[in-house]
Amino acid sequence: MSGQLAAKHDLVTVGGGLAGSALASVMASAGARMLVLEQEARFRDRVRGEALVPWGVAEARMLGLEAPLVERGAHIVPGWTVYAGGAGQRRDLPTTTPAHGGLLNYYHPTMQETFIGLAETAGAEVRRGVIVTGVTPGASPSVTVQRNDRTERIWARLVVGADGRDSRVRTWAGFKTSRDAPNILIAGLLFEGMAIVEDSAHVFIAPTWGEIALLVPLGHSRVRVYLMSVRRAERGRLSGPTRIGDFIQACIECGAPADWFFTNGARPCGPLASFEAASSWVDHPYRQGVALAGDAASATDPTWGQGQSLTLRDVRVLSDLLRAHESDWETACQRYATEHDRYFDALHTIEGWQARINFTLGTEGDRIRAHALPALRQGFGPDLLGRGPDAPADEPARHRLFGAEPTLGGGASAPGE
Ligand SMILES: Cc1cc2nc3c(=O)[nH]c(=O)nc-3n(C[C@H](O)[C@H](O)[C@H](O)COP(=O)(O)OP(=O)(O)OC[C@H]3O[C@@H](n4cnc5c(N)ncnc54)[C@H](O)[C@@H]3O)c2cc1C
Repeated sequence: MSGQLAAKHDLVTVGGGLAGSALASVMASAGARMLVLEQEARFRDRVRGEALVPWGVAEARMLGLEAPLVERGAHIVPGWTVYAGGAGQRRDLPTTTPAHGGLLNYYHPTMQETFIGLAETAGAEVRRGVIVTGVTPGASPSVTVQRNDRTERIWARLVVGADGRDSRVRTWAGFKTSRDAPNILIAGLLFEGMAIVEDSAHVFIAPTWGEIALLVPLGHSRVRVYLMSVRRAERGRLSGPTRIGDFIQACIECGAPADWFFTNGARPCGPLASFEAASSWVDHPYRQGVALAGDAASATDPTWGQGQSLTLRDVRVLSDLLRAHESDWETACQRYATEHDRYFDALHTIEGWQARINFTLGTEGDRIRAHALPALRQGFGPDLLGRGPDAPADEPARHRLFGAEPTLGGGASAPGE
């Protein structure tokens, strides 16, 4: 078979999660011959993102993907309440963000089913329960797919690695992955029957010992609870049914009311899983007919809830360029990769600043917060909820937050795989 002429598909996505199925839905609607290859026959709770922050909701809106989520019961949350040892300070998101809206929250597998269904309806071919076992970059890139005992090779004009934070496409296609040094561990667990105020997310910050508990209402008394912690040695990995008590206790120590966990029949209803939060990314996520999108291109620290918004930014930028350069996808993808570097670098720098403010321990942490918290309150800091990577991430912005310092405050990077 000789590549491009024989290719039955314009674009193949490895993975049919948020990145793969959102891209397939948009590109199939524009007339591209799409193939989505997804290993899960049925999506399950992997403890992933369920709060889409306002700038990400704006991205979904521009892609025509907000309304389908709302129709499938996504829960709109206008408030963001932060508790730092006392009464909560509530931010009203619709009046304080450029998108003029709240968080859009949903059960992650429901969102995945919604988007993969949309892709199919738009005309994409969707194969589920198939595992991609290899990608060959080149002028006519191809993927190798396995289902039961059968192996098949499929050529396309463009292959998109949308296979998530542990992406293997990156390695197969010869990309180099960078990672921040390990610092924060994030654990998450879904509860049902939890009686909390459902028109706000609730953030309990304990900077003295480096932990944050975040409660994200999904509607109908279902709440996703996350614990972010730098107390790695004492806490260990909060994962599996035997650690649920420790997880709840740690959230209560951060300030979350014990009542929320123990009254009105509140109970866990999913797996407790724990992840290394450090960001991983690829510089210039395009080479030789293979582009990366979503977590495969850059998985940002989940502590800051930016991953899905960043994924939708990838989908919008890539699909806009592919449509604008219909006959020259090489140029489109090179531009996408350059643009991706720009907005990811900005977001990564800002997340590094937030981590510094919230997770630096001891007197150094007190000094940083004494300068940064008033600046944030006066609106001089970055705004991850409202503006994400579009807020200033330059030296003057850093100076406003941290004052005159000899060192830069962005995330430190270490080479990975
Ligand atoms: C604990 C945690 C909390 C988070 N909280 C938030 C939050 O509050 N807000 C937010 O915006 N983001 C959050 N995120 C990030 C968010 O979940 C991700 O950014 C988002 O899911 C990325 O989507 P994706 O499609 O790139 O990857 P994924 O969702 O991982 O999808 C990848 C898909 O590829 C498939 N796949 C993988 N390998 C293969 C293969 N070889 N063959 C076929 N299929 C394959 C997988 O089955 C999967 O369906 C969180 C992440 C974590 C870990």
